[in-house]
Amino acid sequence: MNTRVTDTPVRESVRTRELRLSSAGQQAMDGDGVRLTRIIGTHALNMLDPFLLLDAFESDQPQDYIGGFPNHPHRGFETVTYLLAGRMRHKDNAGHEGVIEPGGVQWMTAGRGIVHSEMPEHQNGLLMGFQLWVNLPRSAKMRRPAYQEFPASRIPIEQWESGTRVRVIAGRTDRGTEGPVENDYVNPTYLDIALQAGDEFVQRLPEEQNAFIYVVEGAVEVGEQKSAVNHRTLAVLSEGERVRIGAGETSRFLLVAGRPLKEPVTRGGPFVMNSKAEVLQALEDFRNNRF
Ligand code: FE
Repeated sequence: MNTRVTDTPVRESVRTRELRLSSAGQQAMDGDGVRLTRIIGTHALNMLDPFLLLDAFESDQPQDYIGGFPNHPHRGFETVTYLLAGRMRHKDNAGHEGVIEPGGVQWMTAGRGIVHSEMPEHQNGLLMGFQLWVNLPRSAKMRRPAYQEFPASRIPIEQWESGTRVRVIAGRTDRGTEGPVENDYVNPTYLDIALQAGDEFVQRLPEEQNAFIYVVEGAVEVGEQKSAVNHRTLAVLSEGERVRIGAGETSRFLLVAGRPLKEPVTRGGPFVMNSKAEVLQALEDFRNNRF
């Protein structure tokens, strides 16, 4: 869709979110020898409520990822897989299977538990994408599992006259483009923004939400202070009602935000619950094939 560039009038008192913390993440290996960069879920940034983990996959060497993630369980949260290049074939113990293609997203609510495999397939050797873990509130950790899956063709693109384009996976842009993902637990925003050199992206977000950007290409400037954030870097944003990101060069970044759950978090690998007893119960349920 085409959206005309308009200036949104802004109250003087609106606070712009500034750069609070930046991190390049750490190199990690998971699954069957998959090399990845862990961006959230590290020593530097354990979590950003409600986001428990963010992994980036980027390699043109199939041996870095072709082992994939053979059968493994999840309970108590959601996994969001967004692919930029390559494919991810998935299959679960309830008979649900499919392939995530470039530009497609799978928002999986593990709830009380699924066991699945996620096997990357390369496209001209290349795999590039992200997996984000979004926590579920206590009231939903044991809900039935569910999927929201959208190929690239079902993800709206807001095209600006300047050439900037915004892919809207979740949430709603200030210009009114709305993403297909539904989630009342944390009301997420998940945007993939390709910003033309010299352009500026402005987006209102609820003040209480936590928000971050991850720079996929180029480099951007965050907030009124124009703090520089480079390629392959995460920037956690401060509190505020508005995000303002500029770019001196053509750049691409993800903007993700969500309402914090403010509940106790106990992690046990693929199980994320409110208490240690619940994590031990998950382990026992998994071992006894109760997923
Ligand atoms: Fe998984």
